[in-house]
Amino acid sequence: MSHRIAVLPGDGIGHEIIEQAVRVLTALNLPLTLEHAPVGGTAFDLHGHPLPPATLALAQSSAAVLFGAVGDWKYDKLPREHRPEQAILGLRKAMGLFANFRPAILYPELANASSLKPEVVSGLDLLILRELTGDIYFGQPRGIRNAPDGAFKGEREGFDTMRYAESEIRRIAHLGFQAAQKRQGRLCSVDKANVLETSQLWRDVVTDVAREYPDVELSHMYVDNAAMQLVRAPKAFDVIVTGNLFGDILSDEASMLTGSIGMLPSASLNAAGQGLYEPSHGSAPDIAGQGIANPLATILSAAMLLRYSLNDEASASRIEAAVRKVLSDGLRTVDIFEPGTTKVSTAAMGDAVLAAL
Ligand code: NAD
Repeated sequence: MSHRIAVLPGDGIGHEIIEQAVRVLTALNLPLTLEHAPVGGTAFDLHGHPLPPATLALAQSSAAVLFGAVGDWKYDKLPREHRPEQAILGLRKAMGLFANFRPAILYPELANASSLKPEVVSGLDLLILRELTGDIYFGQPRGIRNAPDGAFKGEREGFDTMRYAESEIRRIAHLGFQAAQKRQGRLCSVDKANVLETSQLWRDVVTDVAREYPDVELSHMYVDNAAMQLVRAPKAFDVIVTGNLFGDILSDEASMLTGSIGMLPSASLNAAGQGLYEPSHGSAPDIAGQGIANPLATILSAAMLLRYSLNDEASASRIEAAVRKVLSDGLRTVDIFEPGTTKVSTAAMGDAVLAAL
């Protein structure tokens, strides 16, 4: 049986980096059918919408989506619903992608790219699992109104609602424990249970789910402390599971520890295991078309696709080992270049990964 993979390159460097990931997937000779479709600004130019119905239908009927990046300054003046970034939000919503996996790995060869001391961060390998469809970002009611009561009655006030249902917490907690089982067996749940009722429920439910995973060591940490520990001793973490708001902030903080945005993959999964896989960086319009973008985050996203949506750990590990090999051979795109290494183009980096495979 062949698995259909929707390939959505998007805008900017999207096409250049996706091309290399497609070469890698093709070289593995797996039963995959790769189908391309436009998304983002490219789709707006062609079809008047950043997520045309045909692209959405392809994504929904595929085992997984391999996504490049969307966005360009030239679309910044469009009404919000037509901006390229709406395509990602639309895909997340339509596919129910509630679990966002963002690994932050710093290969020892790239330790100098981090703003932290190499001894603090070299060899970092942590995974942040962020709940993606709930929390204060989606909770109702929300709005701006004249305050109906309180000390500032009658003044304009903005308000949002933080809320999580038990089942939403339970399903992301299960994924957190299962991810920890495949790694070092440690899960840190991050909340603000000393202040927030939502977090108290979060903590209670995660603690309850833990009883099904006696092989995983669970700890709890307040989000302010987690932000601090991420820069103080990031290597102490294995898997972090947290809600949408805290995860948004902590995953960006963790990714910046590595200093190399061109290296970081991500995955967003739904309950059926369908996923959207994309590099953590954007469409980099400043370097688009020059053939110098780093394709490794996208190639590593393809590895995550094989691991999480197709359950093919062996092929995922093969890709990751090939990436480690090209780094230890000293090959670098411009974003991770340092003296003493060899500067290569996007395509040459793809060639090297293929050769290492
Ligand atoms: P960006 O991530 O595109 O670029 C930030 C900086 O990192 C730039 O200097 C860029 O050249 C560099 N960079 C990024 N990826 C690189 C790679 N693979 N290799 C080498 N260098 C790389 O962020 P930005 O400049 O803030 O945003 C540009 C556009 O991307 C905007 O339209 C934004 O909305 C969009 N964006 C899209 C996504 C997405 O598609 N998921 C995410 C973030 C930003």
